Amino acid sequence: LVVIDHVDKHYGDLHVLNDINTVVNRGEVVVVIGPSGSGKSTLCRAINRLETIDSGSITIDGEKLPEEGAGLAKLRADVGMVFQSFNLFAHKTVLENVTLAPIRVRKMARKDADARAMELLERVGVANQAKKMPAQLSGGQQQRVAIARSLAMNPKLILMDEPTSALDPEMINEVLDVMIGLADQGMTMIVVTHEMGFARKAADRVLFMADGRIVEEAAPAEFFDHPKSDRAKDFLSKIL
Ligand code: ATP
Ligand code: MG
Repeated sequence: LVVIDHVDKHYGDLHVLNDINTVVNRGEVVVVIGPSGSGKSTLCRAINRLETIDSGSITIDGEKLPEEGAGLAKLRADVGMVFQSFNLFAHKTVLENVTLAPIRVRKMARKDADARAMELLERVGVANQAKKMPAQLSGGQQQRVAIARSLAMNPKLILMDEPTSALDPEMINEVLDVMIGLADQGMTMIVVTHEMGFARKAADRVLFMADGRIVEEAAPAEFFDHPKSDRAKDFLSKIL
């Protein structure tokens, strides 16, 4: 579904993405981990074309990422993104947050969008919050709304960048449970997270990044129990 081929990107002298190559198949869950500054967010943002790349190519479903215009809107509709900081629309209700894009971009009738949104809010366990404003929800509830919002577009792929790292510990599991549910239902996901429980339970593959490179790529059990590189061993000794 996603083919990343010889992707390079620099910020000035910094080689933030250094010859990145990988393929994510439909239904696969890929966890990206690595030290701060290793390029994880930049890679995620490049896949959604929130960042440009200097060279190489990224294709989604056989189509090269568009430069701009209508193609870009379609890409954003097909690729969901969930951020660390929720990024809900503060002046819209929970329900409106979920229905906005389907109505505007997919031209869905409000009635249908509302029904679908309630179904999704139910699925992530916050249907009873539909009429509230985001600020009235806990962080875990807001993040679950953000997940429902990305699902509302029926994306081919969901990118998540540290979706639980801004949450208080007691709220992390409620969001991870939703993510595990999505993975079980066959959603294609690329998730930047240091939640090893999630990686072990849900990931098909772990990408370990350091200094802009993919240093290791392996099944979670293999990676966590038998890391090969010193970089990975060192990193794991710090977080486990
Ligand atoms: P973290 O775990 O802290 O989120 P990360 O792996 O997601 O780290 P990135 O956010 O991808 O790392 O950043 C990689 C490097 O690129 C960092 O050194 C960062 O300072 C640098 N960087 C990121 N965005 C920019 C930018 N817009 N301009 C210049 N440098 C940037
Ligand atoms: Mg990051």
